[in-house]
Amino acid sequence: MPQEPGKIVSPSPRPCPVCGKPVQFAFRPFCSAACTDRDLHHWFAGTYRLPAGDEDDAPEPEAGENMS
Ligand SMILES: [Zn+2]
Repeated sequence: MPQEPGKIVSPSPRPCPVCGKPVQFAFRPFCSAACTDRDLHHWFAGTYRLPAGDEDDAPEPEAGENMS
């Protein structure tokens, strides 16, 4: 198994997904507490925005059998 002493595990090169700044280890995968909070807020907003009660199996009004 070849060992490469020059290759050391580097920290995640990915930037902050919120603002694109370099990620701080303490806040990874974000760059700061503010971005962590902002992302969490987005996540919650997306969850609460899910349509509830908008299903297709809603009871249809009786139409057609009510001809008099
Ligand atoms: Zn950020």
